[in-house]
Amino acid sequence: GDTTTTADVTTLTPGTASGFPPFEYVNESGDLVGFDVDLLSAVVEQTDGYELGSWEDLAFDQLIVALDNGNIDVAAAAMTINPDRDETIDFTDPYYDANQAVLVREGGSFRPENKEDLADRPIGAQAGTTGKDQMDSLVEDGTISSSQTNTYENYVLAVQDLANGNIDAVIVDTPVAETFVANRNVVVSFTIETGEQYGFGVRENASDLQSALNEGLQAVRDDGTYADLTEQYFAS
Ligand code: GLN
Repeated sequence: GDTTTTADVTTLTPGTASGFPPFEYVNESGDLVGFDVDLLSAVVEQTDGYELGSWEDLAFDQLIVALDNGNIDVAAAAMTINPDRDETIDFTDPYYDANQAVLVREGGSFRPENKEDLADRPIGAQAGTTGKDQMDSLVEDGTISSSQTNTYENYVLAVQDLANGNIDAVIVDTPVAETFVANRNVVVSFTIETGEQYGFGVRENASDLQSALNEGLQAVRDDGTYADLTEQYFAS
């Protein structure tokens, strides 16, 4: 959306990609909610010069494009800070850590313990993600063939296909895997230690906004809001 400036306050259009619980999802009332939604709101509230406008809910692999072309001003989508993305956009300081988990059907006999055990199995991940990168690396090292890779617009669809038996595993961020385990008939079979950190994405050279968000992040850590939100969304 447009970046509107009135009386020294800049309205930011935030963007996310729902279907990634508990970071961003659409609840039973049809509202976009989640840890990222609440955290970014709290962070922006701490800033002097910015306020949040209404959210754009996009496909994850469209968020960087949307930042680039000005349709959104901040991406809050459990986005891993990595060198590839850092070439195109900038990130705030990290606000959450994750690794990758391999989900399989609950009650099934397939229980891979490592990447080799995924040999010749159809697996799935969401387009444009670090989980998809892991899936691609299994093709590169010959563990699976490219015809065994399945790419979805979001992880809810991937987990549905797993539950249906169309694929045998889904590779997804650990905190999201745990949420699916709690709500769907799937289990974590093993994890891949990737040491990822999430940041909010902003356009390159938006250094005023980047610093304001970093200060806001520090403020919500200091005042206990960050701890309250982790308690609300991740307490099991
Ligand atoms: N953290 C992962 C990534 O950045 C997945 C993010 C997502 O699917 N929303 O690619």
